[in-house]
Amino acid sequence: MLDRYDAIIVGSGPNGFAAAILMQSQGLKTLLLEAADSVGGGMRSKSLTLPGFTHDVCAAIHPMALASPYFSRLPLQDYGLSYTYAPYELAHPLSVKEAAFLDRSMESTAAALGKDSQAYTDLFAPFVQQWPKLAHDILGPLRMPRHPLLMAQFGSKGLQSGTQIASRFQTREAKALWAGLCGHGMLPLSSLTTAAIGLVLGSVGHRFGWPLAQGGSQSVANALAAYYQSLGGEILLNTPFTDRKQLPDHQVLMLNMTPKQVLAIDGLDLRPGYRRQLEAYRQGVGIFKLDWALSAPIPFQNSYAQQAATLHIGGEMAEIARAEALVSQGKHAEQPFVLLSQQSQFDPSRAPKGQHTAWAYCHVPLGSTQDCTAAIEAQIERFAPGFRDCILARHRFNTHELEAYNPNYVGGDINGGIMDLTQLYTRPSFSLTPYRTSNRSIYLSSSATPPGGGVHGMCGYHAARIALEDHFHIKVSL
Ligand SMILES: Cc1cc2nc3c(=O)[nH]c(=O)nc-3n(C[C@H](O)[C@H](O)[C@H](O)COP(=O)(O)OP(=O)(O)OC[C@H]3O[C@@H](n4cnc5c(N)ncnc54)[C@H](O)[C@@H]3O)c2cc1C
Repeated sequence: MLDRYDAIIVGSGPNGFAAAILMQSQGLKTLLLEAADSVGGGMRSKSLTLPGFTHDVCAAIHPMALASPYFSRLPLQDYGLSYTYAPYELAHPLSVKEAAFLDRSMESTAAALGKDSQAYTDLFAPFVQQWPKLAHDILGPLRMPRHPLLMAQFGSKGLQSGTQIASRFQTREAKALWAGLCGHGMLPLSSLTTAAIGLVLGSVGHRFGWPLAQGGSQSVANALAAYYQSLGGEILLNTPFTDRKQLPDHQVLMLNMTPKQVLAIDGLDLRPGYRRQLEAYRQGVGIFKLDWALSAPIPFQNSYAQQAATLHIGGEMAEIARAEALVSQGKHAEQPFVLLSQQSQFDPSRAPKGQHTAWAYCHVPLGSTQDCTAAIEAQIERFAPGFRDCILARHRFNTHELEAYNPNYVGGDINGGIMDLTQLYTRPSFSLTPYRTSNRSIYLSSSATPPGGGVHGMCGYHAARIALEDHFHIKVSL
């Protein structure tokens, strides 16, 4: 460690790395501090169940890393990262025998939706085709759009609720597929902005796929770390940051942390008005997470379900809407909407030969300690009879355990704060540059800044871009 750095970044999640890499690549001397004993934040993989099994502790599916205007420019393949694609990106079972699906081809996905083929194409085509332009305008802070007509088109659909957009569809397959995409927003489907989340996830699925990282999501973190170090960046593990006095001299401090964590740090010298804004910041709902070691693949009978890396398990749209509405009212759904990944089916390195891993979570009220194992497993069993018989071991995380594992998941909220209309772009403060804090030398770069949750690094990129300009008169753009 040196006596002085241009910038110190706290937290080695995707956003911490994006900020650190951007600043280091501009010739600055930077240090990345991490409380845990390994890098990665939400990108770690660990042997959570039995020896020989590798589980993605948090993020598993990486459309947003590929769709990220910043991460997609980094030479991460030269540092060991490769992606694995399943034949289908996503399957959505409707019964043991039936499932809707999403694959790379928008045309074949739409064709399978029969009467809704045209409505599906009309909804997604403009954004799939023009993703690079759209990404610039939506994956960052509010500002004058570079492509105003495209943004207006996106806004006219994305600022509706998932339920409103669903009225364009007639078939249960299209409605369910759409509801599952919107369900990632961790909001009731009647909320404005759920359509924006569905549109983004569907569009990037068709444009880039929903791949797994070969070997586990840790490969994304390791590649970011290796690239950062190749530029001369320094990483210090096992170093929880609690007080600014503990740090070497530095010009800029970049916090890959959420408001609740920032408020607990000593010596940041934040103005009372700004602290009040952080105190008023709202979390969303939490999650309950399970990982399994399995003796066999999940016994799905539907062939799309067998061949998809990700599954949305929750049945028809009305059921998913009910489950998500209950959670937002502080209740647990008896039949929750379950997001599931069966990584080892497409990446055999994740489990001993012939055996398998699976990963799943459902949404629960913020801070819930309820064990949702039975509810999640019953939902999977409903579409894959015999699933429970394959379980060799399981690992579970309630919201408290998840926050203890990574303090950025406050109350089990994996998006760094609710992503509703009032907080999507003004996170965590009402400003066009919410990465700046009231202290000119301190910036926020976590998913509690725009554009929010996911492994895309765009919060970190924008925070670093602004800090570079403010302090070093360096202008960067994508
Ligand atoms: C179960 C689960 C499933 C998910 N699935 C997906 C998915 O499939 N695809 C996807 O794109 N996203 C997914 N996500 C979301 C994604 O992981 C997060 O949105 C993303 O990791 C947020 O990145 P970040 O850089 O802001 O923070 P994080 O990745 O949370 O990193 C923060 C880091 O800061 C460190 N830190 C915090 N406080 C301190 C301190 N005081 N001192 C030092 N270090 C500190 C933490 O230890 C951590 O390493 C999932 C999340 C979870 C939990």
